[in-house]
Amino acid sequence: MHNKHACYFFLILILGTAFFGCCPTPDDLPFFIEKDRAALVAATQDLVRVPSVQGEAADGAPAGDEVAQALDAALALCEGMGFKTINLDGYIGYTEYGTGADYVAVLGHLDVVSAGNPDDWTYPPFSGDIHDNAIWGRGTQDDKGPILAALYGLKAIKDAGLPLSKRVRVIFGTMEEETGPDVSYYRSKEELPIQGFTPDAYFPVVNAEKGLIRFDLSGTIGPQTGDLAITSITGGSAINAVPAEAVAVVHASDANAIAAACANFAQATEYELSAAVDGNTVTITSHGLSVHSMRPESGKNAIMQLLAFLGSLDLPPSDLSAVLDFMNTYFGMETNGDSMFGQVYTTDAGTLSMSVDLVTVNETSAKFSVDLRFPGGIDGDTQIRQPLLARLDETGVGLAYEEWEGASTPLYFDPATPFIQTLMGIYQQFTGDITTQPLSIGGKSYAQELPNMVAYGALFPDEAELFHQVDEHVDIEDLILSAKIYARAIYELAK
Ligand SMILES: [Zn+2]
Repeated sequence: MHNKHACYFFLILILGTAFFGCCPTPDDLPFFIEKDRAALVAATQDLVRVPSVQGEAADGAPAGDEVAQALDAALALCEGMGFKTINLDGYIGYTEYGTGADYVAVLGHLDVVSAGNPDDWTYPPFSGDIHDNAIWGRGTQDDKGPILAALYGLKAIKDAGLPLSKRVRVIFGTMEEETGPDVSYYRSKEELPIQGFTPDAYFPVVNAEKGLIRFDLSGTIGPQTGDLAITSITGGSAINAVPAEAVAVVHASDANAIAAACANFAQATEYELSAAVDGNTVTITSHGLSVHSMRPESGKNAIMQLLAFLGSLDLPPSDLSAVLDFMNTYFGMETNGDSMFGQVYTTDAGTLSMSVDLVTVNETSAKFSVDLRFPGGIDGDTQIRQPLLARLDETGVGLAYEEWEGASTPLYFDPATPFIQTLMGIYQQFTGDITTQPLSIGGKSYAQELPNMVAYGALFPDEAELFHQVDEHVDIEDLILSAKIYARAIYELAK
């Protein structure tokens, strides 16, 4: 303690007492961030230059050599600041400052998604170079810039000598992008924080994240009889994307009549549907609009457009016609689950969303894969799973429900809680933005990996979101501003 005070008085002499009447206060934290402006920029550049896309696991490098290199570099930076560091077998690492029984955590990640084709970038994706007062490269926004901004926030608290009652950890995850076991490894080895934030999303603060359930509805189907039969239905490309295209092959004695019906249906509904006739075979193609399944209401579901048309045909009764009826009745073009659940599940934390994203039907089986997200205030078991199973039961349609791995429960903090109020207040103080409200998102952030944690920055409302995109870059002023916000936030949570 004595040494620290000696250093601290020395620092005051160097910087000049003009800056501080007496001792630094929390209001002086921005000064300490400004003092490290060049260092924060350089550290971000250095870390961006490590192309830490998750790769093949190696000895002591479960997320691959490049990610291990990024983790080593980040921890070396922390040691250079005088912080202690721990590397948990390459899965995850952290730095810790302060004393106290409890700790608050900042959880970010060092892995990045692929840069895609480097030729698509204005500047090379791992250059970390500065152009137009911005640092360019993969990871500048997601999430190397933000986690370093938080680290320099902690350094500012240390440099200012502000007393804290709790310890602070900055935790460097390595497997966020591919949702690997980095944080579960941490949870198995370490005590848990009492509170914290992840700088891996948006300002002002994300107080609500939806729960996620993905499931298949599948079953075997008997033969179709008569002069009209569906040979196959395929569509969709991923479980998290509203399908852009779906195709059905229909066998009909009067194929031209089916093609004409398709044209009429397309005109009446304004769905983009087309039919190609080849003898007794009609191939019907549906084009939709693909968007992320976290907001299916802004897309157009090609699969459900196609099923709507097939359902409008005079199909002879069969297992498949019953399945199509079920899908059209309880999913249809709806995205809010109204028909399935008997009511719209809307709470303060948002509205339920549901999207049929994949389909495979052939002459003996049918399978649909659904992405469902539900807001805080809704119970996944009693309000989602049980009603769904009951619906399948009562209709006797013969589809089995099977859930995918990785279901999650919603995250929700009332905006009135002191935790959210504190983070909002700091954001407002530093930005002057008092209109943007706490955010509710359909996606799942790193905040769900540790208790009592929310996503807090680092993307500002007026900043272009370039996560996972070509030409990812961060404006240096935004980076510095986020560091000032993080310094104060860490201080307020740990004081
Ligand atoms: Zn991220």
